[in-house]
Amino acid sequence: MYTDTEGIVLRQTKTIGGRRMITLLSPKYGKIGAGTSITEKGKGKTALALRPFTYGSYELFKSRDSYSINGAETKKNFYRIGEDVEKYMAAAYVLELTEKVTQENQKAQGIFNLLLDFLQTVEKRKSNFETLILAYQTNILKLTGTFPALSDCANCGKKIDDSVENILFSVKDGGIICENCSCFENNNDNSVKDALIYRIDSSIIKVLKYFSTHSIAALEKLALDEKIEKKLSSLIREYISYHLDVGDLKSEGFFREVKYGDYIRKD
Ligand SMILES: [Zn+2]
Repeated sequence: MYTDTEGIVLRQTKTIGGRRMITLLSPKYGKIGAGTSITEKGKGKTALALRPFTYGSYELFKSRDSYSINGAETKKNFYRIGEDVEKYMAAAYVLELTEKVTQENQKAQGIFNLLLDFLQTVEKRKSNFETLILAYQTNILKLTGTFPALSDCANCGKKIDDSVENILFSVKDGGIICENCSCFENNNDNSVKDALIYRIDSSIIKVLKYFSTHSIAALEKLALDEKIEKKLSSLIREYISYHLDVGDLKSEGFFREVKYGDYIRKD
């Protein structure tokens, strides 16, 4: 069956016989792996539409369990992402994360819109890419139904005053927890570290709530305070790894290496 869809190219790999495999995120079909024999040499413009970070429209042939791409046209190429190595790595991380959290043949309009919003905003930005990554991750949690509880205890449902300066956030429970529930956890768990409990203050909660209710474009001129950014970054990384089972992401290590000059290994 012939069909077409718009999409964003997440990845391109070479396969045997000069063919390429394109991983595409489309609103209609979700994540798609599609083979193509279009080469860089043969059809210049079409080949450009098959490169990662491209937003384009794609002519597909869909057989029972595979897709192939017969034609492609670029709608927007975010070539300025390649101007800066830190910006490039931030965007590469977001593509890799997107690939991990999306499923084949499951509509992904929300994540598609979010990714397009991210690419458009990051392309124009000159620094503080991590703020946009955090906003992206926060919205991925929302769209995958794993967003943390931020008003009531994630364990017992008790209302928590989120304006106080010392709030406990439990990665495993999926959000903030009350004092009662945290005592219970610590008594039953030999190691507090294993329980993945963070002490956070109200600013972290405010940022998470703000990110989850605004588009990424709305954050164009916003950069988080460095201390909040670091704390939130480590909390979200643990949270995603626990709730979304994405495994280790190669590009995340590279991004941190470029940004901080070292490689933060996840234990
Ligand atoms: Zn509780």
